[in-house]
Amino acid sequence: AEVADPGPGSGDAIAARRVAEEFRELYGADPDGVWAAPGRVNLIGEYTDFNDGFVLPLALPHTALAAVARRADGVLRLHSADVSQGVVELGPDGLVPGSGTGWAAYPAGVVHVLRGAGHEIPGADIHLSSTVPTGAGLSSSAALEVVTALALNDLYGLGLPHAELAVLAQRAENEFVGVPCGIMDQMASACATAGHALYLDTRDLGRRQVPFDLAGHGLRLLVVDTRVKHALGDGAYAERRAGCEAGARALGVRALRDVPYGELPAALDRLAEAGESDDVRAFVRHVVSDDHRVEQVIALLDAGDVRAVGPVLTEGHASLRDDLRVSCPELDLVVSAATAAGALGARMTGGGFGGSAIVLVEETEAAAVTKSVEEAFAAAGYTAPRVFPATASRGAHRVL
Ligand code: ADP
Ligand code: MG
Repeated sequence: AEVADPGPGSGDAIAARRVAEEFRELYGADPDGVWAAPGRVNLIGEYTDFNDGFVLPLALPHTALAAVARRADGVLRLHSADVSQGVVELGPDGLVPGSGTGWAAYPAGVVHVLRGAGHEIPGADIHLSSTVPTGAGLSSSAALEVVTALALNDLYGLGLPHAELAVLAQRAENEFVGVPCGIMDQMASACATAGHALYLDTRDLGRRQVPFDLAGHGLRLLVVDTRVKHALGDGAYAERRAGCEAGARALGVRALRDVPYGELPAALDRLAEAGESDDVRAFVRHVVSDDHRVEQVIALLDAGDVRAVGPVLTEGHASLRDDLRVSCPELDLVVSAATAAGALGARMTGGGFGGSAIVLVEETEAAAVTKSVEEAFAAAGYTAPRVFPATASRGAHRVL
């Protein structure tokens, strides 16, 4: 007989016992507990989070695990099973923003911002192990931050709600690591629930769990990691951010989220009259229309009309490719090959210039669509992509 799918998260306990055992070998004592925090994919709403807009991510079954023990002497010891570097030890004065402690800056930054927010973190031994692919646009960094924040929250009785931990984790990445990311990744990792996408208003952090039961509809969401990362990313992000801010200023709104979708044509006319560039107008068109697509997708999911989400995803991709210009040939090829092979819809997800795309398919078509994408990549001479299904999984939690 077929073994029943254990469901998202149930492998946690086994993996957590392994991570606890690694902790014992490393530090010579038992951890006080083991915590998990997932990576994420964003279903729709891209480059909207720095415009006070809407996003709709879901948590992946891939998690960062942290085995952690308290220390009373002010010392922080950090280790990751996934990098060759040994234990990083930071004394009470060792936490300096921007000091470039490599990967360790992510968990160290969390300790730094927790202390900065007035919480007493006397010290900790931390051992991390993650199944979230790194640098693939799936938020391995947020998983690392959130799992650290949750573990310390529990161990030191800080009593902070998950959303507050997400805000502190974002601050760690912004101020300590030095990456100007929005709040989506950390909120998804901290606050998502199984079987749901997380609707998030990035202005006031208002949120709602939106039913996202693909299996119940005979559907599947595939993640296609292109395994490329084009160098353009950082400068392009800053340029788009500045362009969106210029657009909002010219329109007299606090942020582009305040431009109603119905007023988009008039807003674009006003930008032209004000002498704003074609780039700024295109950025504005993307952001305002993608906020609208988030609302469209939520309405479709609430109505149980899940298949109709597909074309909205593909429209979102066209907008990112043509208006925001953050796609790349590999991501475009995932979308064109998948939709040509019968996928309901597809788009790049995350910051773009490489990383991952998502594909909505009939369960019965998943293998054929995967094969078509792989063949298209081979024919183009690209590195073989990594394809896996994304089940909407639970957010950060204690495992042991
Ligand atoms: P993403 O968050 O999309 O995966 P980022 O560039 O934001 O990409 O974060 C990736 C970085 O996070 C890695 O270069 C590494 O420094 C750190 N990181 C992520 N996962 C781990 C891990 N398991 N162990 C050590 N460092 C990690
Ligand atoms: Mg990241």
